[in-house]
Amino acid sequence: ATPGGEVTLAELPLREDLQGRTPYGAPQLDVPIRLNTNENPYPPPPELVDDVAEAVRAEAASLHRYPDRDAVALRTDLADYLTVSTRVVLSEANVWAANGSNEILQQILQAFGGPGRTALGFEPSYSMHPIIATGTRTDWLPVPRRADFSLDTEQAAKAVAERKPDIVFVTSPNNPTGGSIPLEQLRGVLDAAPGIVVVDEAYAEFSSQASAIELIAEYPAKLIVSRTMSKAFAFAGGRLGYLAAAPAIVDALQLVRLPYHLSELTQAAARAALRHADATLASVHRLSAERDRVVEALLGLGFTPVPSDANFVLFGQFGDAAASWQSYLDHGVLIRDVGIEGHLRVTVGTPEENDAFLEASKEVQR
Ligand code: PMP
Repeated sequence: ATPGGEVTLAELPLREDLQGRTPYGAPQLDVPIRLNTNENPYPPPPELVDDVAEAVRAEAASLHRYPDRDAVALRTDLADYLTVSTRVVLSEANVWAANGSNEILQQILQAFGGPGRTALGFEPSYSMHPIIATGTRTDWLPVPRRADFSLDTEQAAKAVAERKPDIVFVTSPNNPTGGSIPLEQLRGVLDAAPGIVVVDEAYAEFSSQASAIELIAEYPAKLIVSRTMSKAFAFAGGRLGYLAAAPAIVDALQLVRLPYHLSELTQAAARAALRHADATLASVHRLSAERDRVVEALLGLGFTPVPSDANFVLFGQFGDAAASWQSYLDHGVLIRDVGIEGHLRVTVGTPEENDAFLEASKEVQR
């Protein structure tokens, strides 16, 4: 018997607002084709693997010491990457890093949300935004997108002006629906917001739109752009997320971050991975082309894919999405039921994986 196994969750003195909740839970199943968590399907190239291994080995000799609490070298490398890719000149003072962008988002809510404060998001969107809000006791204000899942930014700005949230989340490209929004439309939301606006750009590298990083100089007291190495950078297992913002925002997050939150191993591995950015990011073009091929093929099969600017596609129409998700799984293809009626989401994989998905799509129950 497991020690303590007789005690159930219902018997614990859990916070009232957490009772009855379910944790974030994309199933981690051992199936041949896994297209469910928007990872990059291409493993890191051998040179990157060697470089990470060497960098970690070098750090292993000094693991008796705490890491650089401020992760200055890594933040400098991230700032250099953003400067090159967005042509907005940033320094390490503009960048903060954490264990995945989920931790970045949690730190933002700890600093700018909390009891008595509100966060607003346009749904359906990334399911962790309301979960992290709840975890920090920030009240969540959901505002619906259009029926076609696009964001009516005029309505969005109106909702923000009316409800005056302390934090607004705009996910661009939006997960799980795939669309991104132009900077001109984002300005309307920023102008209406009384507090912080977090633009979650986890999928920015796949997008045809300019990055909101271009607006930081215009909205220094409001705008935070969050990014991750989990998607385009093929570094999901490394756990490295970051943000770009005015230096004062980075100062604010120092008040809530745990000391030494980023291990020396993480910092060294992420820096090594960044040295190979050109090689990993070369996959972005291939994946975007594959995405367009998958969309065309789905249309040809009579599905209704939602236009995507990311490395995944939301598509319908299913009579019973949960049953169809299971039907894909029975064909050895794991995709995602994101809880949107009649729809499922598929991550763009390698051409072979996408072919397997499309073959299964011909046979699954609709
Ligand atoms: N934001 C969005 C929109 C996402 O889709 C994800 C990952 N699914 C994240 C943030 C978090 O990713 P990570 O913690 O791996 O950086």
